[in-house]
Amino acid sequence: MTTMQAVFFPGDKKVEIRQVEIPTPGQGEVLIQLKASAICRSDMSLYYGTSVFEGTKCGCTVPGHEPAGVITGVGNGVSNFKPGDRVAVYLALGCGECAHCKSGYKMFCKEFKCIGFDSHGGDAEYMVVPAENCMRLPDSMSFVTAAVSTDAVGTLYHAQKRLGISGRDYLVIFGMGPMGGAGVMIAKGLGATVIAVDMLDERLELAKELGADYTINGKTMNVQEEIARITNGAGADAAIDCSGSPYAENDALDCVRAHGRVAFIGESKETTIKPSQQLIRKQISVMGSWYFPIQEFDEIAEFIVRKNLPVEKLVTHQFKLEEAETAFQMFDERKTEKAVFVWE
Ligand SMILES: [Zn+2]
Ligand SMILES: [Zn+2]
Repeated sequence: MTTMQAVFFPGDKKVEIRQVEIPTPGQGEVLIQLKASAICRSDMSLYYGTSVFEGTKCGCTVPGHEPAGVITGVGNGVSNFKPGDRVAVYLALGCGECAHCKSGYKMFCKEFKCIGFDSHGGDAEYMVVPAENCMRLPDSMSFVTAAVSTDAVGTLYHAQKRLGISGRDYLVIFGMGPMGGAGVMIAKGLGATVIAVDMLDERLELAKELGADYTINGKTMNVQEEIARITNGAGADAAIDCSGSPYAENDALDCVRAHGRVAFIGESKETTIKPSQQLIRKQISVMGSWYFPIQEFDEIAEFIVRKNLPVEKLVTHQFKLEEAETAFQMFDERKTEKAVFVWE
């Protein structure tokens, strides 16, 4: 068989499954048979046909930037991977030569391109990627966990590492989607006391299941008063916003104590803040955090396995590729949290 099924977005929420040639790995590339490919909120611009990525405007690029599978073929010059290796795929493509690429932060490369946007992604039976984008999986890690760990878990792990989260901290996490949920798990793995904030009770229930010590519904409760009460008036040590909401971003800045640390992770176009009151007089540190450097994946995977993090609990729905239309529609209508395509 030389053809395979692959998902395409012609635009306007249309989903097509086409029969296309199985790609051949070129110099330095590998062919991966997909076992799991997670759907992400950032796929939605492709689904709507409003994406700003050049490579996606034609509707001819296969989506899927959170894939995992088994290598079934290698191109010339690939020595560190072989058929049978279980891998997840790092989404950022770079020139491979600049300081950012060499330090593992390919997403800062001037030639940054993104798998699943600029080049074919994992919502297909097979995909070809550079071998240097493959991240080896521990034997005990499932493909579903691996797929979700490339983005949600990896991003939140890297942010908490940068924030220096530990057992000394009260950490508040705003937004209990897959990112926030992953954040709760990791924070518990690091020993922190976690306060989860969202507007939806069902998401707060999941946060509790994932280990959150306290939950606050921002719609029905006063977030600042609750955090003050929980921390005996001291304020939180650190906060992470995964929602991208201007209210939550401001709550994050307001809820931390003097010398507190804050990370913004939820994508957000514009927010008004009060620098004197929120930043200067409390001398807090605020950072943005996005994805993780590729060489950190070994550490992330090892942490997930060692702490037995319940990553699959973030996944509310698994679909076959044939069900792509339903899958994207349900995801778009927020009838699922993390949804993943799986192959037996
Ligand atoms: Zn994603
Ligand atoms: Zn580069």
